[in-house]
Amino acid sequence: MTDLRDKTAIVTGGGSGIGEATAKALAAQGVNVVICGRREASLARVAGDIRSAGGIVHPVAADVSQEAEVERVVSTALEAFGTVHILINNAGIDAAGGLHDYDVGAWDKVMAVNLRGPFLMSRAVLPRMRQQAQGHIINISSESGIEYYERDGGYGLSKHALNALGEYTQRENQEYGIRVNTICPGMVVTEMTRDTPGLNHERCLTPDDIADLVLWLLTRRPNIKIGTPILIQTMLNPWEGA
Ligand code: NAP
Repeated sequence: MTDLRDKTAIVTGGGSGIGEATAKALAAQGVNVVICGRREASLARVAGDIRSAGGIVHPVAADVSQEAEVERVVSTALEAFGTVHILINNAGIDAAGGLHDYDVGAWDKVMAVNLRGPFLMSRAVLPRMRQQAQGHIINISSESGIEYYERDGGYGLSKHALNALGEYTQRENQEYGIRVNTICPGMVVTEMTRDTPGLNHERCLTPDDIADLVLWLLTRRPNIKIGTPILIQTMLNPWEGA
């Protein structure tokens, strides 16, 4: 098992939900964490929690779809900690609707956050990771990146493309000691989903379930490649019994 102590990680969307749980889990393992998101207040809350628990964290208010803001996140990590070992591309947004009348602005926004964001972040850290011959990128995709769901086209396509981005990133960089994993969660109770009508929260995944899987992946021996998107769902249908 690989020791994560004193490694540096960037977690996008670290101010809530899966990103918050992952940032806290990493910090608890002794990882120096940079969290980013657009809302300063959520980042400050999570940073306060991490520091109270003895962890090290830098919050950076930034939009992952903007190249200059992504560069600022990465330069904060480099200035504070010298390098980046781990990138968790977690920030994401949802926008439901059928493709036949899908709002074009919503399409552009979903693609910008869910696909352009992970591309920009990966592009910003890969040269450093290649130089140090060490790095691990984990993309938080979705079951919508593997399966078909009604009125889920824009989001689902952004996640299908994110899965492909992960595969390309892995293949182009695996000879440089860089590993890439893609996690495809089922329903997790977070800000994104908690008010969805008919969702049985008791039957959903928790953000900690995803953070546990992230930690497990990060602590495998360096020569182990875990390919294909990893689907993590619940045994019981979360759309029943609410
Ligand atoms: P969440 O609590 O809404 O988290 C999304 C995070 O992304 C927020 O912290 C948000 O912060 C950040 N974000 C959104 N747009 C951003 C931008 N342009 N730049 C930077 N940060 C941005 O929901 P979540 O469920 O934890 O979602 C995390 C990831 O899991 C997403 O990629 C989502 O697609 C995926 N996922 C969720 C579920 C589920 O059931 N919840 C299932 C499968 C996959 P700001 O608003 O402050 O920017």
